[in-house]
Parts: sequence; structure tokens; C-alpha cells
Amino acid sequence: MKQIVKEPAQEAMQAAPENVLLGAGKKLLFTTKRPSVIMESGTGMYISDTEGREYLDFVGGWAVNALGHSPVALQKALAEQASKLVLASPAYYNKPQLEFAELLTHISGMDKVFFASSGAEANECAVKLARKHGALHLDGACEIITMKQGFHGRTLAMMSATGKPAWKELFEPKAGGFIHVPFHDLDACFAAVTNRTCAIMLELIQGEGGVNEVDEAYLYGLRKICDMYGIALIFDEVQTGLGRTGKLFAYEHYGIKPDILTLGKGIGGGFPLSAMLTTEPFDLFNAGDQGGTHSGQPLAMAAGHAVVGEILRLNLADNAERQGRAILQGLGELANQGLLARPRGRGLLIAFDVSEGSAAPLAEACMRNGLLINVTNPATIRLMPALIVEKAHIEEMLRKLELSLREAIVMAE
Ligand SMILES: *Cc1c(COP(=O)(O)O)cnc(C)c1O
Repeated sequence: MKQIVKEPAQEAMQAAPENVLLGAGKKLLFTTKRPSVIMESGTGMYISDTEGREYLDFVGGWAVNALGHSPVALQKALAEQASKLVLASPAYYNKPQLEFAELLTHISGMDKVFFASSGAEANECAVKLARKHGALHLDGACEIITMKQGFHGRTLAMMSATGKPAWKELFEPKAGGFIHVPFHDLDACFAAVTNRTCAIMLELIQGEGGVNEVDEAYLYGLRKICDMYGIALIFDEVQTGLGRTGKLFAYEHYGIKPDILTLGKGIGGGFPLSAMLTTEPFDLFNAGDQGGTHSGQPLAMAAGHAVVGEILRLNLADNAERQGRAILQGLGELANQGLLARPRGRGLLIAFDVSEGSAAPLAEACMRNGLLINVTNPATIRLMPALIVEKAHIEEMLRKLELSLREAIVMAE
């Protein structure tokens, strides 16, 4: 009996040849199409597959690998913490949790933080907190106004918050209480505010929406609406936070502060970590209102502390600003040659357009040429390299991109 159970398990544990291992992809519940390569190792700006092919990585784990692949600071922090304490239980304080809370509130100018593991979870916490505020201070107001073309994650409630038209019919019934308004239409937002509204929530640069930057006057208007009615302004900085846009937080570009701020992606440098920050007046939860088994988990806290510490020590927000300019300039030259259109973005959150349907073939051509880029939609490519990117990487990226653009265009004809 025992052997029957054991043997296949042992077989599966042995290092399988690549083609066999790729076959195990069928064991994963299908959620997305992936190319037939298996990523195995990475250093800095480069990632390698099991066939030994190396790729210059301008996807950056989807704006996650802030310090690049396997940074020494993160390796050390995880190894040291793992040898001390992996989990104490969310019922107790732990040392890296308190140290990281101190650092994060200090650099963000916020007063309180809740830690979670994913961006969607941090946003759920933000929505719960806004509704608590509505329940306590706004006569039970519970509606959140969000933007069409915005993106806030993939939990049921966050899919409802996200105004993506393609998701409209999915997973009905949707979580209620989210009102979608067109981005940059202040009158529409004003008209949508009622005595049921407890918050307005948006990204300052819509990432998944194709890198659309918020207009300053619009943002100022939203802040005013919120102040006028006592409703909460929530900035989802899961993608834009911690140096990505050339400032530590994207809201610093505008000088407009939120009541609630969410962070994710880059904060853990690849370790699952997110945070929701808020101000003293929003310290509203009762015991049991919010929590999570892995909230403030010591390994995640040590990782976050190390990553944010390095972003500050190496002044990576400034680097993002500088290198982002260089990328936009290079893309501008390719645009002048008619190879791409509308290069845009801030810092190291950059996108450009190609003709409808050619984004995926272009990404495939880039991959063959040893460059990873992100297909945001059928006509849009997004670049979000690690914040450590340097001039030489940008030159290599532009070379490989130009080559691939010419190949992809030939292929399309
Ligand atoms: C990626 C993203 C999320 C979701 O984060 P997950 O970690 O995937 O849950 C939410 N908001 C924005 C703006 C994002 O870019």
C-alpha cells in the first residue's frame, strides 16, 4: 500500500527533463497563456530559463522586482529572519513588523499601517475602512466611486471596484456599492456623489489601463469634493508606490495627500507583501473588524524593510526619474521613425502603442531577441524595469526593441 502511494510521488520529485517538466504546466489550473520556457534564476536586470537563455527583464515581475532579481539585501534579510523566527502568529507583535511600521509611516507621512500580502487585499482593507468611516460618521454611507479603466485587483470585491468593461458580466452577482465614473470627468464624479458616498478611489497613473496619468486639476478637484463632504480619498499606489514614478509616492508629484493609501508590488521586491496606510482620524477598526493570518508576517516584514531601506539608501526614486527620461527619449526616436506611437509615462512606469493586435507578436519577437516586455492590451506595451536599471541596460533594451519592431512589422506584412 505504502509503496503504491510513494513511488509516483518520488518520480515526480526527481528532476524531470525540460519537456516533461513543461508538461506539468497542464497541472496548473488554466488562468493565462504562457510561453514554453521555464524561468530558473535571475541576477539584477537579467533572468534566465532552464535552457540557459538569458533575458533582459523590462517586465520586472510586473513592477514588483524593485531591486532586480535576487538582490543580496533581500537574500540576507530573508535568511537572517528565517533563522530567527518565521511566524509568531498575528496575535503577537514581532520585531521586524514594528521596525517596518515605523519606517513606512515615517516616509509616507501617514500615521497607521495595516500589512497584508497582495495589492487586492490592501485595497479590500481600504474599502472596509472607508465603509467603517461611512458607518460611523456619514450616516451609514457605503458607496465607493471608482474610475472606468481603473484596476484594483482580482478578488470579487476588487473586480467589482475595477471599472474594466470586459469584467462587467463576469462572476455575477458583483459585490455592490461601487459606482464607476469616467476618468478625468470631474462633473461626472461630482454628480455621482450622494449621501451614500463614503469614498473616492483611484490610481494616480492607471497601470493596467495602459499608463494614463491623472491630471493635476482633476485630482485637486477630487480632493476638494472629498473635503467638502467628509468622504475619504483613497489612492491605490500598488503599482506607482515606492519610487516607481520618480518620487517615493506618486502623490508627491501633485502635492495632494490621500486619507488612505495602498501599496503592494514593489514593496516586497518579489516577496508577497502589501500595506494600507491611513491617518489618525481613520484609526476606526474595532478588534476583529480586520485581520489576516499572515498580516505582519516576520519574513515579509524583514523583506519589506530591507527592500524599502535599499530604495532609500540608493536613492532609487531619483534613478527611476533619470532612467525613465532616457527610456522616453529613446522611445521618442523610435516613434519619429514610425515604429511605435505615443510613448508616455513617468519614472519607470512607461508605455507605448503599436498597431492593434501587434503587441503580442512584438513581445514574442522581443523574447526571441532576449528582451522581456509586457503586453498590457492588444495595442499597448508597458515597460516597468527594476528601479536599479542603468544606461547600458536601456541602450540594450532599445537595440533589441528596434530589431524586434522591424521583425514584427515584417512578419505582419
Ligand atoms: C497589481 C495591482 C493591484 C492588485 O495587486 P495584487 O497583488 O495582484 O492583488 C491593485 N491595484 C493596482 C493599481 C495594481 O497595479
